[in-house]
Amino acid sequence: MSAGQDDTAARPDQDCAKLAPRFQKAVEAAILECVLGGLDTYVFEAYRSQALQAAYYARGRSVVPPERPVTNAPSNLYSWHGYGLAVDVISKTQHWAAPESWFRQVAAVFRKHGCSWGGDWTQRDLPHFQWGLCKPSPSDLAREIVNTQGLRAIWQAVRADDTLQDASAAKAAATPSPPAATAVAGTAPVPADIENLQLNDNARDAAVVLRARFPHLVFTSGRRSIRSQAQAMAADVLKNRHFIAATYKPSAVCTACQKWVDAHAEAQTQSAIAEGLFSVFAAMSEADVMKFSKHLTGDAFDLQPVTADADTIQAFIRRLPLLDKFLDR
Ligand SMILES: [Zn+2]
Repeated sequence: MSAGQDDTAARPDQDCAKLAPRFQKAVEAAILECVLGGLDTYVFEAYRSQALQAAYYARGRSVVPPERPVTNAPSNLYSWHGYGLAVDVISKTQHWAAPESWFRQVAAVFRKHGCSWGGDWTQRDLPHFQWGLCKPSPSDLAREIVNTQGLRAIWQAVRADDTLQDASAAKAAATPSPPAATAVAGTAPVPADIENLQLNDNARDAAVVLRARFPHLVFTSGRRSIRSQAQAMAADVLKNRHFIAATYKPSAVCTACQKWVDAHAEAQTQSAIAEGLFSVFAAMSEADVMKFSKHLTGDAFDLQPVTADADTIQAFIRRLPLLDKFLDR
């Protein structure tokens, strides 16, 4: 058997090429940014094979010292390391003993690159970073999928596969991934209130990540029909007659809607304004209307305004890899 911590079979694998492609790029970019910023980071462990996990498992059990087990997981599939979706990052000079403030700085960089941090967990794991669209731990279904379909199926489900890197290429692909794939394969289960927003995959994933990070956030609106879009805008117009021109990016639809409001000063109820805006939408081409608001295509959601942590939440939203725009009104 092995000799404990000096066991060569139990050397951590530091090869980032074994990680999921998009996660690899994120890790490499984050490490580079850290190093350029004076944080002497390196990847201590990346992909963890079953053989290595078995060696870790033996420590403190059949292999002593150490006196106590170092892991309770008999299989590598209970951590995202076993899927190439997690890395442990430590300091070249301070190793594991770097202060928490150091790890916090590293975490700020990794978050920018779409990774989540073990330091945010209840059972904190400061050196641990994983792909931001993974939930904290892999599900039973994730294990089943990796055992039956292989790692790439998991990478696709959590959008860490480079074949999905180009969103337009993904859209153009003839066969979209099964709608349930993201929810079942290892990302967080989609909470019912988020499911009810009827968002597209990217926006929904972003909402799930946000909820996981900030559990108290309340989502107030997701995909809207043209009628409910008119209703929502009418509520804002009641408060500010110039809301439309001030809020939406210039377009024929935007101009027509604002023009209708300007010409109908007598419309002073939400329903009267909504009727008018709906009539404007109905007169325009569907293609133009769909481009007018991301709510209409399921690509946008609204959050109830927050006071606590507002800056942190805004900064986090701006860094989400799947959101291209954020209106903080
Ligand atoms: Zn780890």
